[in-house]
Amino acid sequence: MQQRIYRNLRQTDGKRVDLHCIDGRIAALVPAGSLTLSPDIPSHDGADRLLLPALVESHFHLDKTLWGQNWRPNSGGPRLIDYITNERRVLREVEAPIVARAGALLENCIALGSLKLRSHIDVDPEIGLRHVEAMLELRERYRDLADLDFVVFPQSGLLIQPGTAALMEQAIEMGVETIGGLDPAGIDNDPIEHLRIIFELAAKHGCGVDIHLHDAGELGVWQIERIADFTAATGLTGKVMVSHAYCLGMVPITQIEALSRRLADLRISLMTTAPADIGLPPVAFLRERGVNICCGSDGIRDAWTPFGTGDMLERALLLALRFDWTKDAEIAAAFDCVTGNGARALGIEDGYGLATGCAADFILVAAETLGEAIARRTRDRTIIRHGEIVASNGEMTV
Ligand SMILES: [Zn+2]
Repeated sequence: MQQRIYRNLRQTDGKRVDLHCIDGRIAALVPAGSLTLSPDIPSHDGADRLLLPALVESHFHLDKTLWGQNWRPNSGGPRLIDYITNERRVLREVEAPIVARAGALLENCIALGSLKLRSHIDVDPEIGLRHVEAMLELRERYRDLADLDFVVFPQSGLLIQPGTAALMEQAIEMGVETIGGLDPAGIDNDPIEHLRIIFELAAKHGCGVDIHLHDAGELGVWQIERIADFTAATGLTGKVMVSHAYCLGMVPITQIEALSRRLADLRISLMTTAPADIGLPPVAFLRERGVNICCGSDGIRDAWTPFGTGDMLERALLLALRFDWTKDAEIAAAFDCVTGNGARALGIEDGYGLATGCAADFILVAAETLGEAIARRTRDRTIIRHGEIVASNGEMTV
């Protein structure tokens, strides 16, 4: 039996606690000083650091990153399809192996506290299953350090790239969990057929669905309505996510009242990066109606953007800034988007959190309150995975 005690921790409600881990699970979370256990059990003094659950990265792209490479001036755009074409060119030119680049980024994310992560993986007729194979290898390599969940993603289009659907099905058979989609109207120009294919695949294999939806305004909203139709028809309640969904912030809010109730009923989650330059789902409005909303980084230093740090506390800050959330309750709502809401969206609710019996995956941050943790985003963080310290001060220690 492997045991460790973390003493002198501060909860977000200000209470001081001690935490006892047994075999990678939280065995007890009790008022500080009240554990009566053998002095032989190894213990760590948290020195009044803030105890938070592991952060959840709900959407990024490990296979695209140029993390650790020399700075590369962004050459993409201006249209979405131009970015897609540009990325194919950039990735052909990069010499560093995909597993090395992705591994470096993953370690950075783990060291900042993200231990549950969803990465999309490109497939198309040119790259075939190479990225899938590399990411499955990566997951195996880091299995003890983080829980990776994968989406097979038709980045170059589905219908406009014949053979992609078959590659996606092969990826699922190889071990990828979730079927991706991409602008069923804007890229594939046949939204119903696009959705029919991905939902059929998901239903056949018992997978979830996660659709990149950049399509704007009425066209985007119409597609979310159809996504809801397909979710209901295929019995995939609770297993569908729409990523970005800018459109929900581009139409009058009264127009999405009924749709928001359908999203809540079907437990369709939304993912936002809290973008600064475009509409985004009205998070407070949707939360009030029971819609689950989480946050992701999306591309981190890749052919799409030279930016991104992989720090989900920073992502919570960006969300708060976007909506001018400054009150503690609002900051807590932003934090939910990088923790529990992400876990719910990824289907890892069981065993996630700080309750007795949960996986002992948590972080200790040098901050007095949640607000300070997000405002400062200090690297003075200790990351605990399955009860053991794996990183501190932004660096891996294992
Ligand atoms: Zn993405």
